[in-house]
Amino acid sequence: MRILITGGAGFIGSHLCDRFLADGDDVLAVDNLLTGSAANLQHLESQPRFRLLTHDITTPLSLADPVDYVLHFASPASPIDYLRFPLETMKVGSLGTLNALELARAKGAKFLIASTSEVYGDPEVHPQPESYWGHVNPIGPRSVYDEAKRFAEALTMAYYRYYRLDTRIIRIFNTYGPRMRLNDGRAVPTFIGQALRGEPLTVYGEGSQTRSFCYVDDLVEGIRRVMGQEEMHDPINLGNPDERTILEIANKILASFGAPSSRIEFRPLPVDDPKQRRPDIHLARTRLGWSPAVSLDEGLRKTIAWFRQHAIKA
Ligand code: UDP
Repeated sequence: MRILITGGAGFIGSHLCDRFLADGDDVLAVDNLLTGSAANLQHLESQPRFRLLTHDITTPLSLADPVDYVLHFASPASPIDYLRFPLETMKVGSLGTLNALELARAKGAKFLIASTSEVYGDPEVHPQPESYWGHVNPIGPRSVYDEAKRFAEALTMAYYRYYRLDTRIIRIFNTYGPRMRLNDGRAVPTFIGQALRGEPLTVYGEGSQTRSFCYVDDLVEGIRRVMGQEEMHDPINLGNPDERTILEIANKILASFGAPSSRIEFRPLPVDDPKQRRPDIHLARTRLGWSPAVSLDEGLRKTIAWFRQHAIKA
């Protein structure tokens, strides 16, 4: 297949590029490098089946080359990033999604959009099944991301219903692994960076809020399976249901560095920070035969090992 991926230079995008090339596909990564980095793709430069095009998908893209699959992964995606780039985030979720859908339509390609567990907001239903409509503050600081992704889902469904474009929507829950940016503000890389520097780990609130962290290789496998499905137009959750408190994650990371748990500093909880989050992956289990295979301990070990090697560059 000839696969075009927006956001190909980002954390998840670059892992997808690796996977598609390994599977024998041709890959065109499209990225404006706002929060992604060409360094994530440097190791692919000599691959004849790979190309990186620096382009902002919020402006239309026309290409001479044929494309079989468009994956739309471009967006600032960590709270710090989308608070720093609120308008860019809203534009890439709206105009960017429109342009990516138009590209897929022009090429007769299939389309997959990376949506997010943020569409559930601070959920009142736990764990979150795809049928839950969410509990989102439409004007809070996180709304630039949450509502952009909700709009992107609606637009994708409109293209499916109106044009019969072959679309898929995945809702990605917290994911971690190599190539996250140490300064992207997310819990896992922030804690690892702090531990590497011998600083206290900054836990927001009392650390009793929960998240369920999925190792990136598991997510990539899930995405591959969604791509291979016939008729999967309704959203599907991809994530790891292994739910932990943030304090537990901080303590695990400290323990991997042999540091005492006193090395934690509590800070105020950000506005609208979801109290709990865990995917209901019943649909992914039954339709895709997929569930995460990498345990939290193993994933953290691999991630920490990568950061130890790359921390200076990150
Ligand atoms: N968090 C924290 N300390 C940090 C960064 C994040 O306690 O230095 C918390 C944050 O408040 C949230 C959880 O960790 O409750 C996960 O945050 P992240 O930014 O990784 O993802 P999201 O909030 O989008 O799930």
